[in-house]
Amino acid sequence: MTTTVHGYPRIGPDRELKRACEAYWAGRCGPADLDAVGARLRRAAWEAYAAAGIDEMPSNTFSYYDHMLDTAVLFGAVPGRFGRPAEGEDRGAELDRYFAMARGARDTAPLEMTKWFDTNYHYLVPELSPHTAFRLAGGKPLAEYTQAKGLGYETRPVLVGPLTFLLLSKPAAGAPDGWSPLELLEGLLPAYAELLRVLRAAGAQGVQLDEPVLATDAGRAAVAGFERAYRELGALDDRPEITVAAYFGPVGTQVLEAFKRTGAERIALDLVSGPEAADELAAVSGLGDKALVAGVVDGRNVWRTDMRAALSRLGPLLGLAREVVVGTSCSLLHVPVDLDAETDMDPALRARLAFARQKLDEVALLGRALSDPEGAAAELERARTAPPEPEGFRNPRVRARLEALGPQAPERARGGRRGGGDAPHYLPTTTIGSFPQTEDIRKARAEHRSGAIGGEEYERRMRAEIDKVIALQEDIGLDVLVHGEPERNDMVQYFAERLGGYTTTAKGWVQSYGSRCVRPPILFGDVHRPEPITVRWTTYAQSRTDKPVKGMLTGPVTMLAWSFVRDDQPLADTARQVALALRDEVADLEREGIRHIQVDEAALRELLPLRAADRPAYLDWAVGAFRLATSGVGERTRIHTHMCYSEFGDIVGAIEALDADVASVEAARSHMELVGDLDRAGYRRGIGPGVYDIHAPRVPTADEIEAALRTALRAVDPERLWVNPDCGLKTRGYPEVEPALRNMVEAARRVRADL
Ligand code: GLN
Ligand code: ZN
Repeated sequence: MTTTVHGYPRIGPDRELKRACEAYWAGRCGPADLDAVGARLRRAAWEAYAAAGIDEMPSNTFSYYDHMLDTAVLFGAVPGRFGRPAEGEDRGAELDRYFAMARGARDTAPLEMTKWFDTNYHYLVPELSPHTAFRLAGGKPLAEYTQAKGLGYETRPVLVGPLTFLLLSKPAAGAPDGWSPLELLEGLLPAYAELLRVLRAAGAQGVQLDEPVLATDAGRAAVAGFERAYRELGALDDRPEITVAAYFGPVGTQVLEAFKRTGAERIALDLVSGPEAADELAAVSGLGDKALVAGVVDGRNVWRTDMRAALSRLGPLLGLAREVVVGTSCSLLHVPVDLDAETDMDPALRARLAFARQKLDEVALLGRALSDPEGAAAELERARTAPPEPEGFRNPRVRARLEALGPQAPERARGGRRGGGDAPHYLPTTTIGSFPQTEDIRKARAEHRSGAIGGEEYERRMRAEIDKVIALQEDIGLDVLVHGEPERNDMVQYFAERLGGYTTTAKGWVQSYGSRCVRPPILFGDVHRPEPITVRWTTYAQSRTDKPVKGMLTGPVTMLAWSFVRDDQPLADTARQVALALRDEVADLEREGIRHIQVDEAALRELLPLRAADRPAYLDWAVGAFRLATSGVGERTRIHTHMCYSEFGDIVGAIEALDADVASVEAARSHMELVGDLDRAGYRRGIGPGVYDIHAPRVPTADEIEAALRTALRAVDPERLWVNPDCGLKTRGYPEVEPALRNMVEAARRVRADL
């Protein structure tokens, strides 16, 4: 029984990649230093595979920034604004162009960045046009293969497959309407063919072509293109063996049938995200003479694999393919590197977890268990023993309360609720919550954490900050104020640190994009709120002003989306537990006289399932959780929500169903068209379209904000319109924030005067 994995974290156990890239960008080290770090990190991954006893190792899973960007560069799809590679250019020039595509350069906008399927990893979106001419323009896969070979490792280069590459790309500006990058398939395949020949000539026995797009509706709909691509690549004679890797969901029988008609030798399926793959394989009478890589170890979550379940999943597959290889569901890119770094964690909890390095051991053990059941019996038994329950795992009170509430979220009082401003004070101005996180604030938090300052001193500094932020907002003339969130490191982690059933890690970093890493909290047990979380900050802020202060909470879906979440119960149940904790917080805020409460659901759309068929059920529980959190308030309290995007597509109904009074959304970059779109799609509540883009340092003028508001008013009545920036201000500095908010308030005044 052979074992393999799809890939390993690139960042290194101590985020070495982040440090090296940032040093390079700052000019503190040169190309040779950066390349040396890259080589070391790749080598460490191969050594980890070898130490665990993984039989087939991948290569080309490393990247300085992103694998989609690498693929665009590999095939010469570099937009003209980044310049052409000069004959004999040096490594520095090559790297600088690469990073310019990722991060932009002085006058050159970078490629757009977007989420990699439903993960928290972000990729750079290649720009293609009918004129894009692909060719094999780079040597990265070969170089990594050769590096491994030099170290004595035979590897399988991993590439983004042609279908996924094209379907995840976007038409470049100026491409004809209705044109799709998929039309380039024919022109792209010869470049892949050339690459396969080159790898074969260097000795590669196998390659892996990743086609996760097959788990989406768009990928499944492109089954003809899929078949065509792999028939053509499969028909090459001097090529390595081809493994098509599909992950993040089941692919459906049509794709499996099509795959069987191609010359590719193996398919890797994700049996964690798509356990129905086993039935689908049976439905197509197995893979015949082709092999299966069975992804049974979860590459996206941090829980230890249930060996018994994994083995019973593998058993029935053995007869459905020429050979079954044991593997991970997807690349281990999405989990932290090494659990051994978590020395302070409750041992009972740690015993339930597996990070990337531990997952290698699991794959290897499953391989041994299948090829030598007797030899592996003792080891397997040990791995099977259920670890003791960590403290805080079960909370009967939470369960009893949810039980008593029943499956339906209680309805909120209707009464005299209204979503917008109150005449004569239409168009109320507000912000999304955070104010700039200054050096002083960060220092205070760090000193408090390390014990350098005590609780009292910390409290004093935070209150001083709140005083400052409240005074500034009053001076600017904003209508609904916020306390500014100085006490929060991150909108999810802050709450996770204060809720039971959650823990945080010391070094559990995962790559979000480029050099940016996040440390998602781990939701391991029943969630509950030991004590109020935000109430004292919000009420303190309220005590400093006569204007209303808006309380600020992170919603249940977002709390799940940006965490690693227990998988022993449906997400919907976990969401209800989080919602219940928030419900108590909402009630406390209201009781203390807070009249506006915002529950951020920045990630509502992010967790949307990849396939349309799965969406209604998701939206149903997501909406239910939001309502459970917020429906306890009386009719005079205004519930706000905030979402960090402007494409609502098929979730408008869900946003309406949240039953919030006001939703603030990103709209600055879509020129307010969104307001009309939402209204036409049936959204009837208050709306705060972001009137300027906080992601750029530029200060908007009062004139342009005024124009934006007038545009919005063509689509909605003034009773429904709120005025706010498009997201929190924490990443900005006061020199931009202050004039921008003054201009925003001025613009609202001018428009109001005409009503
Ligand atoms: N209230 C949060 C803030 O202002 C919202 C952030 C977000 O939506 N990403 O920072
Ligand atoms: Zn936002």
